[in-house]
Amino acid sequence: MDYFSLTLCEAQKLLESEDITSVQLTESVLSRIDVVEDRVKSFITLDKEGALDQAEEADQQRRKGKAGMLSGLPISVKDVLCTSNMRTTCGSKILENFIPPYDATVIEKLKTEGAVIVGKVAMDEFAMGSTNENCAFNVPENPWKKGFVAGGSSGGSAACVAADESLASLGSDTGGSIRQPASLCGVVGMKPTYGRVSRYGLVAFASSLDQVGPLTKDVADCALMLNVISGYDRCDSTSINSPVPDYTSSLRDGLGGIKVGVPVEYFDKGLDPEVELVVRSGIDMLRDAGADILEVSLPHTEYCVAVYYLIAPAEASSNLARYDGVRYGYRELDTDSLIDMYRRTRSHGFGEEVKRRILIGTYALSAGYYDAYYKKASQVRTLIKDDFARAFDRCDLVVSPVTPTPSWRIGEKADDPLALYLSDILTISANLAGIPGLSVPAGFSGGGLPIGMQMQAAHFNEEVLLRAAWNLEQRAGVKGKKPDLG
Ligand code: GLN
Repeated sequence: MDYFSLTLCEAQKLLESEDITSVQLTESVLSRIDVVEDRVKSFITLDKEGALDQAEEADQQRRKGKAGMLSGLPISVKDVLCTSNMRTTCGSKILENFIPPYDATVIEKLKTEGAVIVGKVAMDEFAMGSTNENCAFNVPENPWKKGFVAGGSSGGSAACVAADESLASLGSDTGGSIRQPASLCGVVGMKPTYGRVSRYGLVAFASSLDQVGPLTKDVADCALMLNVISGYDRCDSTSINSPVPDYTSSLRDGLGGIKVGVPVEYFDKGLDPEVELVVRSGIDMLRDAGADILEVSLPHTEYCVAVYYLIAPAEASSNLARYDGVRYGYRELDTDSLIDMYRRTRSHGFGEEVKRRILIGTYALSAGYYDAYYKKASQVRTLIKDDFARAFDRCDLVVSPVTPTPSWRIGEKADDPLALYLSDILTISANLAGIPGLSVPAGFSGGGLPIGMQMQAAHFNEEVLLRAAWNLEQRAGVKGKKPDLG
């Protein structure tokens, strides 16, 4: 049996019944990586030895009767989360050899629950991008089609899970970076409510939008991962001190009495007809599962892209000021003065897209422009948030496509940042509003590319999302389908 193809919950059962050990499971995953990694290219840092040590330790703990929620399960982590024993590059040359002095809170939680962390996976530099082409090291390819993008910025996480190179992964989502690659690679990906999961040790892109979340092979695994990573953290003042429900317990409840809103603005021009078809048939499946379907309106949707691409770069320009060659990572040595050192370090250490965002953000925050751009964007952000509040007065969740199209060829839009920004239109509103959203596989294009369905709910209503997604998963006939990687 190919253990690497198991879900977290399936592997957990086999570990519990002692049919397999974590060492066997981890060896299976590592041999899978040996076979497919040349094609998929999802890892920046792979820690084979460390993984086997952690597996050994998990097996020993289990024999002593001490097994955590993720005991012995091989998991990968986006290279934006600080790990004290592995470099954390953020996909950037400027942090190429940076080993953080501490673990992110979510990493600590994985370790406490006995997870086996196999390595750090690829991402767009500082999580800025939608294709992973902005990674300074390697560009993962979509496991479903050679030469096609895995999505971004958590493209390494999505590709890795879709290719069975780890049983699950952690990503981060500032404007869609978990949901979009999950959709393009045919896995489940969730951005939790802002404040549900600690951001301590998540390298900051745009602090008012960033959230950590899971990418998994199915919905039950997503719920399990969310159980582990959620909760208040005194190191993150924006994390919320409210009880964490058991997200796995209500998955199987039906959808009777659940109201599903379909936002008219999300089915606008520019939507690929194949994507629309798959999502509309997904909506029919939710109706079959007992949900009531109604139309809702999110009238400020057309401003989302403009608002996001002011607020996110503004926050990024401030957050990325810390990479000055003095305290972190890369430093240009042959320089004439301190200012020259800053200038050359940042010019050579950052890639094009990161520099573009720093310039946009600095401009938007500068004296004389602040009111016209940043302040105005923040005001419209409130209108977008209010749209959702009004919609959730009438329904429990809203459903839509995740991306306007399925995956595309690597290089196809690489020189057109505006086209890429526009393709984020359906995911960025959840971050602006702070609400939870997920992508669940719903079908395939005629060319065999995965298509996800997005579900969004009111703050802290992850349970209803997971329940609806689980019900869709039972009907969509996509679960268990694997890309052919030989
Ligand atoms: N594609 C979006 C961007 O480039 C989202 C990134 C993210 O969620 N980290 O900003």
